[in-house]
Amino acid sequence: MRTVWEILLMIILGICLKTIGAMKPAPYSSYSDLTHCYCLSWRLGVESNNVRAWRTVPTQCLRYVQYYMLGGQYESDLDLIMEQIYSYIDDIVLTNTNTTDTQAWILDVDDTCISNLLYYTGKRFGCDPYDPMGFKTWAIRGECPAIPAVLRLFRKLLQSGFKVFLLTGRDEETLGQPTIRNLHNQGFVGYERLILRTRDYKGQTAVSFKSAMRKQLVEQGYTIWGSVGDQWSDLVGDCLGERTFKLPNPMYFVP
Ligand SMILES: [Mg+2]
Repeated sequence: MRTVWEILLMIILGICLKTIGAMKPAPYSSYSDLTHCYCLSWRLGVESNNVRAWRTVPTQCLRYVQYYMLGGQYESDLDLIMEQIYSYIDDIVLTNTNTTDTQAWILDVDDTCISNLLYYTGKRFGCDPYDPMGFKTWAIRGECPAIPAVLRLFRKLLQSGFKVFLLTGRDEETLGQPTIRNLHNQGFVGYERLILRTRDYKGQTAVSFKSAMRKQLVEQGYTIWGSVGDQWSDLVGDCLGERTFKLPNPMYFVP
């Protein structure tokens, strides 16, 4: 015969197991849950540079990317990255006694300083294939809005005494003037130099072009403290500086 204590123990154990069971999240039950789960994994793979050389957003992730970009998560992710950058900037300013005017930061342009989200809205948030002529027509209009979090960062860098270089793979010949005008209209005023792709670098990957440009800056005596971009091709290669910061972009991939 079981003692009262044994029975009591079994009752308590039963209650505990039931409570633990209730704490478990419900399993994915619907197609939309599974799609959301897949698209979140896909985006994580893209942002961590595990998924590379992709040409379009998977069709089943159209709604997911749309919601990510427009539903507040994109801005929230940007804000968190900016907090990290600000904290890093404050550390540099506090500990760096070198006050020469060769302390530099590098910012990418497209979907770093200024946004192409409006354009990509018409391209099903990246589910449609890259359209070079369509993008050129859009860029020539010079109407990309600033990304507010990055504009604030840009101003903070200038106030902290850094020289800010804007480095873009945009073609100098065809997009130089519209890009200068666009940046100016959106408040990007006071940068040290806007570096665009010249004829000599046509056909090169973004990694080799941007590496060569950063190398030139280092050879000119600049210390690069940070590189900020929405593409991994902004953040790998030579002369990246002390730290790199990847901004989110689940809409397209630049090799
Ligand atoms: Mg970019």
